[in-house]
Parts: sequence; C-alpha cells; structure tokens
Amino acid sequence: MSSPEGHSGAPSNLLIDPCGRKIDYLRVSITDLCDLRCVYCRPPEGLKLISHDEILRYEEILAFIEVARDMGIRKIRVTGGEPLVRRGVLEFLSRLTAIEGIEDIGLTTNGVRLAGMAQALREAGLKRLNISLDSLRCAAFKAITGGDHLPAVLAGIEAALTEGFHPVKINVVLLRQFNEEDVPAFARLTLEKPVDVRFIERMPFGGEAVPLPPRPFSAREAMEIVEKHVGPLAPVPRDELDGPATMFTLDGAKGRIGIIDPISGHFCGTCNRLRLTAAGRLRPCLLGDSEIDVRSALRRGASREEVADIVRLAVLSKPGGRGSTHTRMAESMNRIGG
Ligand code: SAM
Repeated sequence: MSSPEGHSGAPSNLLIDPCGRKIDYLRVSITDLCDLRCVYCRPPEGLKLISHDEILRYEEILAFIEVARDMGIRKIRVTGGEPLVRRGVLEFLSRLTAIEGIEDIGLTTNGVRLAGMAQALREAGLKRLNISLDSLRCAAFKAITGGDHLPAVLAGIEAALTEGFHPVKINVVLLRQFNEEDVPAFARLTLEKPVDVRFIERMPFGGEAVPLPPRPFSAREAMEIVEKHVGPLAPVPRDELDGPATMFTLDGAKGRIGIIDPISGHFCGTCNRLRLTAAGRLRPCLLGDSEIDVRSALRRGASREEVADIVRLAVLSKPGGRGSTHTRMAESMNRIGG
C-alpha cells in the first residue's frame, strides 16, 4: 500500500475522538507468548495461545502502522506477551524505526533477554525502554513470575543504561501480598541510577491466578510508604513521554518516581491511545472488551482507505471513561498487549 497523501503532508491531528481527545499513540502487541508466568497475568494452567496463523505477520503490522501514521499516529510502543521472544523482532524494529513520521518508538519488556539484546536493540534504532519488574528479591520475583530470572533482569537494566537508552522506565505492578516491602528499595533505586520507577495499580484483567485483594494496593499508598521509609517526594513537571504517570523525585535522586493510578485515579480524560493486539484486533480502550477486526482487511488486500476506515471506527468508538462497567476484563494483558 502506498500513501496517497505522503506522510510529510499529512496533518498530525486527524484522529480526534468524540470526547475531543487527539489520538496519536498506538500500542502494538507482536506476540501473546511470554517467558514468564506472572500471577496477575495468566492462570497457572496456562492460557490458550493464539495459533501461528492468527498472529499478524510483521509485514501486516508495518502496513497497518503506515496507514495509522498517515492518519496522525506519531508514537508507537511495541509490546506483547514478551516482544523479545518473537523471532525476527530486531529486523522488525529496524524497519519500524525507519518509517518516517513516527516520532517516538518504545518497547516494553520483562527484561529477561535484555542483557544479550540491548546493543542490538540500540542498533535497530530503539531509544526508549520500559522494563517490567515487580520485586527486587529473588524469592518474591519467583513467586510472582514463576522464574529465577531476577539477576538476568537486573543485568538487562544495567545493559540498557550502558547502551544509553533514555528514559529507562521500570514498571512495578503493586501487589499487596507480594511486593509491599519492595516499595522502599524500588524508590532507593532512583537515588542510585537514572531510571524512572513507576508504581502501577493492578487492573482487573482476566486469567489471573491470584485474585485481587479485598483492599486494593493504591499508588497513593505506595507514595506514603516511600515518604515514610525513604524521604519526601517532590512533584516534578510532566513531560510528554511520561504518559499517564504523575512524577515525583527524591532529594538528590538520579531518577524519578511515578505513579499510575488507573483504578483510584481518573486518567481516561487524557487517553490518546489505540491498541493493536497480536491477533490483529484494534482495541479502542484497555479497560473495555470491545475490539475491531483489522486482520481480515489486511489479509484480503483491502485498500488503505478501507484500513483507514477501521482506524476511524476505533477512534469513534473510544469511550469517554472506562470502556467497561465489568469489574473484570475478559482478556488477560498478554493477549491485549500491555
Ligand atoms: N512482557 C512485557 C513486559 O513484561 O513488560 C510486555 C507485556 S506485559 C503484559 C506489559 C505490562 O503489563 C507489564 O508491566 C505488566 O506488569 C503489566 N500488567 C499485566 N497485567 C496487569 C494487571 N492486571 N494490572 C496492571 N498491569 C498489568
């Protein structure tokens, strides 16, 4: 598909949803496979994985992104599942970072394979990384993820810093029964290293082996723990790359601390995102179960305009607030793309 408009001439604000929000951010899940088994992300018996044929091919993803780019998408985050387990990911990223008109490309990883891939990821043109890490203690890390990979993830964080990734964000999902006591150590990490640690409230997705606690662990509570055990947190001005996080810093810190509060807060008002799942479905809202099939159109050789119509439909269906009144979403994050 070639662009009738050309990316450079395309207006950057074509995608405005019914609430007036400018949609310029696409999160792309390239696989539902993952090498960890996090208790809040999948049941112990394992998930029914999507068959190989159902997963969007890299060609299809890139073709879709070019259409989305022409409509005003400017930021892409590659995620999964675990994106670094999909064969060919480096070549895919090289092609993605070569697409003109996309201003910002990031990747979210569990960090398990990162140490061995950080240099190649930089060479593929990637500059920003989000690394998910829920505990700094081996036993708790294993209890949460099912694996003994904490040293590998820590080595991955070091490799990311050595390779000059910036920012390096560490995402910590707040799990009362598992990582309450890790909160001060995560905060102290920002004193030692130029990383952004972000405490994220656990959301009610399907396929969780561990039920949500009766009293949710809120981002506000994590801040109180930091202030009690480490030191006062001073607010810092947000920059565009902070997404939905509210950012703070400890005195003398090299990095920052963020909170992301999808449960206790109200951040839908600034949502600028669409999600493309690994199976090629466009999801207007993370917290809503509705999805629109785009894979069939890509596979039957639909025109750019037909694909663009699907993007417009997804933008028009973006709910103003949480996309579901359910207390729990049907799908788990590995299928949706975190
Ligand atoms: N494998 C990659 C990783 O671990 O970062 C990318 C995919 S993972 C699904 C993306 C993020 O979603 C991770 O930071 C994970 O902790 C988060 N996540 C998964 N289930 C969640 C839930 N129920 N609530 C909040 N965050 C969740």
